[in-house]
Amino acid sequence: MTNKLFTSVFVLSLLFTSVDAQDLTSKFDAGKMRERVKRLSMDDLEGRGPGTAGGKLAAQYIADQLKAMGAKPANRGSYFQNVKLVGVKARRDTKLRVSKGGDAATYNFADDFVATTGAQRATAGAKAELVFVGYGIDAPLYKWSDYKGSPADYKGKVLMMLVNDPPATTGEPDLFGGKALTYYGRWTYKYEEAARRGAAGVILIHTNESAGYGWNVVRTSNGSWRYEIARGAKDKTPFLQFKSWATNEASAKILKQAGLDIDKLREAAKHRDFQPVKTGLTVDLQLNSEIKTFDSPNVVATVEGSDPKHASEYVVYSAHWDHLGIGEAGANGDKIYNGAYDNASGVAAVLGIAEVLAKMPKSERPKRSALFLFPTAEEQGLLGAEYYATHPLVPLRNTVADINLDGVNIFGKVRDFTALGAERSTIAAYIDASAKERSFVIKSDMNPEQGFYFRSDHFPFAKVGVPSINFQHGDDFITPPGAEAASFAKDYTAKYYHQVSDEFHDWFDPSAMVQEAEFALAFGIRIADSSATPHYKPTDEFSAAEGRRLNGR
Ligand SMILES: [Zn+2]
Repeated sequence: MTNKLFTSVFVLSLLFTSVDAQDLTSKFDAGKMRERVKRLSMDDLEGRGPGTAGGKLAAQYIADQLKAMGAKPANRGSYFQNVKLVGVKARRDTKLRVSKGGDAATYNFADDFVATTGAQRATAGAKAELVFVGYGIDAPLYKWSDYKGSPADYKGKVLMMLVNDPPATTGEPDLFGGKALTYYGRWTYKYEEAARRGAAGVILIHTNESAGYGWNVVRTSNGSWRYEIARGAKDKTPFLQFKSWATNEASAKILKQAGLDIDKLREAAKHRDFQPVKTGLTVDLQLNSEIKTFDSPNVVATVEGSDPKHASEYVVYSAHWDHLGIGEAGANGDKIYNGAYDNASGVAAVLGIAEVLAKMPKSERPKRSALFLFPTAEEQGLLGAEYYATHPLVPLRNTVADINLDGVNIFGKVRDFTALGAERSTIAAYIDASAKERSFVIKSDMNPEQGFYFRSDHFPFAKVGVPSINFQHGDDFITPPGAEAASFAKDYTAKYYHQVSDEFHDWFDPSAMVQEAEFALAFGIRIADSSATPHYKPTDEFSAAEGRRLNGR
């Protein structure tokens, strides 16, 4: 009897192994994963602010873990890639002056406009003609350019523009992604394009509808410290003397000084034949700013692949280690933004993935190598990942994909996942195949109009043409989580996101983390072993960047 039972279990388990040969769950150490989330969330790491002592400790801890598991340093013998950062904070008594002939009007910081300098200097500014450029977009993919005429029309000028994408039309329902926000609609793109044109400054026109948030959000986030990657002496990246937002009311008033109607201009800008408007107005904005510079590292390691022909190619797994540091006290007097879910959980998951690969005998590893990137300063605008993507440690042409984890499931095992941006490239096929093996449901982006694809560390990889995704868990829990976990999951955006309450709790479920990490590793291995490498669909907005990536650089 005993024997018989034993035999049938044995046969079953054999069957199980052969059917589900890809299941790597048993290779993950759930206890370690939980310990790492806990360690990275502790108060002595001071919320892992870049440039702080706590941030340094956190980066060192990650490097120590990588070393201990046998992952190799990725930066000429070092686990660190230093990133120089600069913070600027404009004085709030700055005025914006707009004049035409003898007529002048003055606008107030915070109430009418906010501004920050891109010059990384204590004094910067511009006095130049204002040109209205519609949506400020140059998108060959959509046969659209708001920058008509000659380069001289924009060089040294102040450009006023609308945020978001031009709307799709009945004739062209997929224009600028239809309902989805494209990168051309993001304010970061608007600044970058204007800087490429040699503009001196930009004024973005704010409306609640086009921005997706109220003026209070713009005022708060632009009225304080703003961070950038410090430009080196030889860095030729173009920059703006000032980057600013103005309220719709102030913008309307400015345009009215030139006899122009903001609503008519907004309507004209919706059409492909829109012509930029030279207003004849002179804008004068001089910024005095506080400046601080500091260093903070990305943490980087590799595990070599098994195939000598492909080991020089890399699948990247990324998870930002930084969080908000010490800030304003929450309701309970706590000032430390521990960032347990955001993103100690992601770091622990990527460390877990690294450990599984590092401990595999080399011959059993996937063909291509893996690069583990723990970027700094994600919360300041994806700065560490941006720095990596523009200063890569392995050639970008050999960087086949980035899988980013930001907020890994600590609540309980689920049946559903989302791979943000997978549909843009052939990555989707690899994910679907691994999902099918596991009977997981892959859900598409529920809020494409919000542009979440542009808001975590996979995005700098997309900008340089590397197929990339942000991998996220769903909330279709196999077993309903306990009350505390359920409330953390359900009220995350309202009560925990970027709050002091995002802390480690004993109920954190490492089996859910293992489930998510195992799935990410499984399709990562599929990509690493594939005869082809992922590529963007030709209709995708990052396809052109991919072409540039593969043809050198
Ligand atoms: Zn995050």
